[in-house]
Amino acid sequence: MWVKITKDKDKIYFYLISLGCAKNLIDSEKITEHLIKAGYALTEDISEASLIIINTCGFIKDAKRESIDVILNTLQEKPPDSKIVVYGCLVQRYQKELKELIPEVDLFLPIISYKEFTEKIMTNFPISSASKIKKQKRILFTPPSYTYIKISEGCGNFCSYCSIPLIRGPLKSYSINEIVSEVKKALDRGVYEINLIAQDITAYGVDIYQKPSLNLLIKSILSIKREFWLRLLYLYPARISTELIKLIKSDSRIVKYVDIPIQHVNNRILRLMNRHYTKEILRKKIELLREKIPSIAIRTSIITGFPTETEKDFQELIEFIKEVKFENLGVFEYSPEEGTKALFLKPRVPSYVREKRRKVLMNIQKELVKEKNKSFKGKTFPCLVELPVDKYGGLWTGRIFSQAPDVDGRVYFTNHNTGEWRKVVNVRINDFKDYDLIGECIE
Ligand code: SF4
Repeated sequence: MWVKITKDKDKIYFYLISLGCAKNLIDSEKITEHLIKAGYALTEDISEASLIIINTCGFIKDAKRESIDVILNTLQEKPPDSKIVVYGCLVQRYQKELKELIPEVDLFLPIISYKEFTEKIMTNFPISSASKIKKQKRILFTPPSYTYIKISEGCGNFCSYCSIPLIRGPLKSYSINEIVSEVKKALDRGVYEINLIAQDITAYGVDIYQKPSLNLLIKSILSIKREFWLRLLYLYPARISTELIKLIKSDSRIVKYVDIPIQHVNNRILRLMNRHYTKEILRKKIELLREKIPSIAIRTSIITGFPTETEKDFQELIEFIKEVKFENLGVFEYSPEEGTKALFLKPRVPSYVREKRRKVLMNIQKELVKEKNKSFKGKTFPCLVELPVDKYGGLWTGRIFSQAPDVDGRVYFTNHNTGEWRKVVNVRINDFKDYDLIGECIE
């Protein structure tokens, strides 16, 4: 959490734990903002909190387990008189079960608007006007150099393995005006990198403008005449159009990086996943991207052990990964989820095979990344300065175009003599360690 808080003994403090993805992180930022407006104060020290809020994730098995573990651990660690509120995706899916399983939790709140959330807190844990805070600094859950901007909620794609449409509901896009104004506000407070996110950003606008409107949104953001980085995360492969590629190429402020979750490449599996593309389409889209923007970095994610996946299907996936050489890759084991169509598909792949296949892919990727990182040695890249690693400012972290926040590697570099944050400097890459690059600033 990116906060510097001055403590005041008379105030009522809440402590917030945000689990799950970047989209959840934005929800955490927003509810924090609303609670502060209502007079509650945020603390980064759980021992002085009267109210503890856990924003959970309920997307797949591992995320659910983590959420439950965090709730149970927090119940052990929290100050004796403090109250605990559990909110978000996990509650949306399992409110009844959670109430029975963990009755010590004071309040469970499913996904509701930020306003409703605040009202529920005010009703259940009222504060006297004397203890209301007048003002607290804006709270950021990300380092000051970057932010995520959520362009829509929900998803209407209904991939057969995914519980998100059940948890978050159908697509609900924010208007272009709202998003542009959020971007302006972020730039005004010194943020340099804007990461556009949604479950699928290529679906943006279909609900409110009756047609995909991502290009229009990007153009509206680019009409802000300022220096910044704009990074596009989570694009549905089949909807990457030639126009979008042209647009990415056309403006140096759009980072030459795309996150395109492909999930699999075997056509039979893709059909069962209800993903509307084939391996041939995937290959064409990737070839087009690389042809038009040779420097583009592509991130993807894969699911291993989807029901009915055979060893042959998996080998096909391996071949594709070796052929395409994604710059970044996330691999997840298939997680059987209630309410999804894939839950009924047979035969299931045993969990030890799902795990083994995940490890195989990650090992292949490690070698591919090594090759890419080797090719970066001696080259200089614009690098967004993020944090000093030590208090003397001798070593800094930052990210270049091929590194999205939180999920990819980063750059460790020296020689940043001006000590300025939130700006782009030139860093020469001298070495690398696993997924991270090591370099020096040549300003
Ligand atoms: S695109 Fe598919 S996987 Fe992604 S959130 Fe929507 S339904 Fe889930």
